[in-house]
Amino acid sequence: MKFRRHPKMVRSLAGAVGKTGAFAPAIFAAIIAIIVVSVATNWRLERSLADERSLVAGELATISSRLQTNLNSNVKLLQGLAAGIAVDPTMDQNRFSKLATQILQPDSQLRSFAAAPGMVVKWVYPEKGNEKAIGLDYRTNEKQRDSAMLARNTHNIVLTGPVDLVQGGTAFVVRWPIYVTNGTSQVFWGLLSGLIDIPKLYRESGLESTDLEIAISSVPEPDLPKKVFLGSLQTFSKKPVKASVDMTYGRWTLAAAPKGGWGQNSEIGIFELYASLLSLCVVAPIIWVGFLTKSRQRTIEKLRLHKKKLVRARQGLEYLSLHDALTGLPNRRFVDQIISQPPRPDAEDCLILIHIDLDRFKEINDTKGHAGGDTVLQATASRLAGLAGPNEVAARIGGDEFIFASWSADPEPKATALASLIVGTLEQTIFIDGVECAVGASVGVAWETPGARGRDLSQLLLNADLALYEAKKTGRGRAAVFTEELRSAAILSKELADEFHHALDCDELVAFFQPQFDANTLTIAGVEALARWDHPKKGLLGPDKFLDVAERLGRSGDMDRLILQKALFELARWDSLGMQIPRVSVNISARRLAQANLLAELSELPLAKGRLCFELLETISFDHLQPVLNEIIPAVKELGIEIEIDDFGTEHASIVSLLRFEPRRLKIDREIIKPIIASPSQRRLVSSIIEIGRSQNIDIVAEGVETMEHAKILKDLGCHLLQGYALARPMTSEQLIEFCRAKDEGLTAAG
Ligand code: C2E
Ligand code: CA
Ligand code: CA
Repeated sequence: MKFRRHPKMVRSLAGAVGKTGAFAPAIFAAIIAIIVVSVATNWRLERSLADERSLVAGELATISSRLQTNLNSNVKLLQGLAAGIAVDPTMDQNRFSKLATQILQPDSQLRSFAAAPGMVVKWVYPEKGNEKAIGLDYRTNEKQRDSAMLARNTHNIVLTGPVDLVQGGTAFVVRWPIYVTNGTSQVFWGLLSGLIDIPKLYRESGLESTDLEIAISSVPEPDLPKKVFLGSLQTFSKKPVKASVDMTYGRWTLAAAPKGGWGQNSEIGIFELYASLLSLCVVAPIIWVGFLTKSRQRTIEKLRLHKKKLVRARQGLEYLSLHDALTGLPNRRFVDQIISQPPRPDAEDCLILIHIDLDRFKEINDTKGHAGGDTVLQATASRLAGLAGPNEVAARIGGDEFIFASWSADPEPKATALASLIVGTLEQTIFIDGVECAVGASVGVAWETPGARGRDLSQLLLNADLALYEAKKTGRGRAAVFTEELRSAAILSKELADEFHHALDCDELVAFFQPQFDANTLTIAGVEALARWDHPKKGLLGPDKFLDVAERLGRSGDMDRLILQKALFELARWDSLGMQIPRVSVNISARRLAQANLLAELSELPLAKGRLCFELLETISFDHLQPVLNEIIPAVKELGIEIEIDDFGTEHASIVSLLRFEPRRLKIDREIIKPIIASPSQRRLVSSIIEIGRSQNIDIVAEGVETMEHAKILKDLGCHLLQGYALARPMTSEQLIEFCRAKDEGLTAAG
């Protein structure tokens, strides 16, 4: 019965286990404790039941044996009286009473006797109160006939009852058949009956003083209440302890159970309490640990949530760190990640990288401002993103530079097709504030070679970059594909760049000088200083080999400063030698002109007015540094330095814009001078330049005078100064000294 609540409990506990893992050990321990307590209680209960039953059985045994003893002694008394009758069957009532008085003891439960010779009651004892019984014929009395006949027929004692008596009341009746000897045979004389006082019998057998609930039946398993003459039929269904009282003929069954039922022992409750307390001692710490675990879990959960938030924030940051804020495209880091990822072993595809650089972005940024520049970048980004398929990436990797990444098993055709698609797409005009702008882009293309897939992808970006450089070199809106030759050239130029730094620091640059002559007198009117690199391995290198490098490295200004110093040094030397070199010209790059400390440096120099000239390239008039130049050029002139426009006529700068600088001289480019012998139109061009110069008080210099015929024509056209191989090649200072000496001697000789 105690078990019945456990399955439910176990179920709800199991449910709790599902909900919270922390209490699982506690719940497990609790289940075990409940089971242990139940089993122990059950065992204890069974044991105590067994104890109780044996106690009840002991008491019942005492009662039944007393009952048996009492009945037996009553039967013995009856037997004694019967023996007396058998000896003297003809006795009378008096004799019978006398005999009965002797036999009946005061402590006996026998209340009275009745002797019935021939089955009809004749004598009774005590006579008083039993008179009614006299004359009772057992053979005709319904209630007593059966037992009487049974005693007679079986020759045995018969106990019946409780019997309703003729004389009133009930009693157990013991009947004894008496046979007398008639010669040799036994003849039935009649019956002797004894009435046993039921309450007395029960009392003296201990049935009234017991705490037990006792029932007695004449059959072992009574099914009807009338078969139970003491107590109630229910007692038999209360798992009673049973005992029996045997009579010679028939048997009583006694059933006993505790009055309140079995298992009313309070000890069980105490035992259960102790067991429960004990298991509580075990379970409580586990529950406590469960609580700790639970709270730890809660803390961990909080931490987990916090971590999740952090992860989300980090993902956000990660996204930001991998994307460009202006265009929303992936950025350089993103591309780097693509490149640094190992190739998937199953993928056959080769990576294609297209490096894109906008052609006129700088111009637009300068003229339309940053907002205009942003518009261009956003439009470019959305166009590139529009071109990108599901497995392609368009990224912005810096200023106006983009990367388009694609993959293909056969990369060459895909790459070239993509390159021209990109160039074509970016060629389309962009509207800025409603105004059409042509931006255009150059692209450099590189891809993994299928044979060498997965090897050194970082090189791929450099390759695309090299190809882009090549594309830019050849003009705008071009695409160039990376080749091994490009790489070699790049390596060489890298080497050269390193060496050039070294050259500047270790004074490997030297100044050569090319004399310029008065067109009329052919006397030396000045010299142009020209840079040479005395390369330790490659020998003497001309500016075509290193000017680009110097420009790219941003060191052309340093080079110019160096040549200027050397030129001035030599000029002072020539002066000291008494040579007639009126002026030295140096080539000045725009970068040098823009150097912040130029004017300060120049003002330190020991300069006589008109002895130094700066040759500025014609392109200076379109230079973006123009505003600076507008201030610097006049300041330079203030220092007594003349300004000459170099390479005039090559870049189609408007003469008006050049005249703003009010140069002292214009030097017509050798490409214009060269054809004057054969081309009258070219002569007319030179002539008109000379005219303009004359009108503005600007001297005209012709360079590339390769023949004396050129010299003559130029002189005739009115050109002031001549420079060219026909008259003198660029030479070292030593050679120049020699040249002048020889010339002087020639003149002297001629003179
Ligand atoms: P440039 O200023 O036009 O210099 C004249 C170039 O013409 C020199 O070449 C010279 O050797 C060459 N030349 C002279 N006469 C003739 C001739 O009759 N026929 C032909 N075909 N060429 C002749 P170089 O020395 O190779 O210099 C090339 C360019 O390098 C120069 O052109 C100048 O723009 C630049 N450059 C030279 N030195 C310097 C320098 O120190 N600083 C800067 N910024 N540029 C320099
Ligand atoms: Ca020059
Ligand atoms: Ca020139």
